[in-house]
Amino acid sequence: MMSDNSVDNSRRRFVKLTAAGIAAAPLSTLLLQGSAQAADMPKVEESDPMAQGLSYVNDATKADPAKRAGDDKFCNNCKLYKAGADAGWGECAVFPGKLVNANGWCSAWVKV
Ligand code: SF4
Repeated sequence: MMSDNSVDNSRRRFVKLTAAGIAAAPLSTLLLQGSAQAADMPKVEESDPMAQGLSYVNDATKADPAKRAGDDKFCNNCKLYKAGADAGWGECAVFPGKLVNANGWCSAWVKV
């Protein structure tokens, strides 16, 4: 037979686990939604006015060498780049809601 103390401990443990489960559920839902949303995001078009303003190109080797000033600058080594599930494309703080090419570049490139 359980003592009152062990019943209390069991109840406390149950309440803690339940609370943790409730707290964790929305977070996992958000994480799943986040990755699904990133996969659904459109890719930045080079013809996009903002992309043109920043000289964005999907292929950094096609960028104006005078503007790029160095052949080692790519989206995938830019501080504003966030790699996603797709290795070839990721999110960029400059183009919210859109994906940029990992091998792309724009004039807002920031060293990590
Ligand atoms: Fe690529 Fe960085 Fe420009 Fe974004 S800010 S498009 S990650 S070079």
